[in-house]
Amino acid sequence: MSIYGLTREELEQYFLTINEKKFKALQIFEWLYQKKERNIANFSNIKKEIRERLQKDFSFDLPTIVKREIDEDVEKFLFKLSDGEHIEAVLMRHNYGLSVCVSSEVGCNMGCRFCESGRLKKVRDLKTSEMVGQIIQIEKEINERIKSVVIMGIGEPLDNYQNVMNFIKIINDPKGLAIGARHITLSTCGLIPKIKELSTFPLQINLAISLHAPNDELRSSLMPINKAYPLKDVIAAVKEYIEKTNRRVTMEYILLKDVNDSIACAHELATLLRGMNVYVNLIPYNETNHLEFKKSSKKAIDAFYQTLQKEKINVTVRREFGSKISAACGQLRSKEL
Ligand code: SAH
Repeated sequence: MSIYGLTREELEQYFLTINEKKFKALQIFEWLYQKKERNIANFSNIKKEIRERLQKDFSFDLPTIVKREIDEDVEKFLFKLSDGEHIEAVLMRHNYGLSVCVSSEVGCNMGCRFCESGRLKKVRDLKTSEMVGQIIQIEKEINERIKSVVIMGIGEPLDNYQNVMNFIKIINDPKGLAIGARHITLSTCGLIPKIKELSTFPLQINLAISLHAPNDELRSSLMPINKAYPLKDVIAAVKEYIEKTNRRVTMEYILLKDVNDSIACAHELATLLRGMNVYVNLIPYNETNHLEFKKSSKKAIDAFYQTLQKEKINVTVRREFGSKISAACGQLRSKEL
């Protein structure tokens, strides 16, 4: 396996099993993540026998950037993995720093009708190292530090739970990529058992739920997962999550023209969320080849926003990024294939 897939704890365990001191893990982390050195021959404070042992037990593989598209303050990176599969990550320049949107799976099985990623069924989970690699490689490529990470690229992160949790631990580790937990957001279409599990995860990351509709009928028509995990149960799971973690949760709501953007939908959404410690992030739809869906007009977005505000629901409209460079979830990859 790749050494970039191990948390510091796991690497400490490894050193103990080969009868070495566990602080070696810290030194290795410094080389890998702080000095970003990949050539083990240069790990000057690690003795030769250990270097040889590491080289025998691990690969130092990272995904490689095969394409980079730039459009003002957003950049898209296409990565090739060691088995030839492709995934993508998006870099966004905000006034508060750089943020990267990472993929968590090769393809996705959730089948949301509006989403480009789901057109290409899931081939496999991403390994932890392949997620960590998206961040390291982008930091190396641009020679700047990433401030925040959103797990909102291709894939359903809670469908690849353990690898994603290890990824979060490594990027959050002060000796790893040192990205603050509060700057890490995981977005899910609502896999209830995993939301429950996530509420026991020790790091204070942000949770975002892809809601996209205020009732079961509409949500099921857009997101097949709603048949397995209906809206009411998702809401109950989120309430429980908030209770346990004391963290505010984000509710994502893509606005699709004449589908879910009516004033009536806004009122229904407000009723659904009343009293919860959540905020709604309205997402202008990034038009894809799914010609059946269109982006809501600016007027409709404004009206939806105003309605929620009047209903005293916390709401923001997501800034639009990268429509020119096919930055919508999964678009670059599907174009490339
Ligand atoms: N599977 C996870 C994370 C990946 S999708 C989830 O469902 O949350 C990340 C977000 O982008 C989701 O809210 C998804 O619904 C949204 N999304 C997908 N396609 C989009 C598009 N074309 N325009 C805008 N948002 C989109």
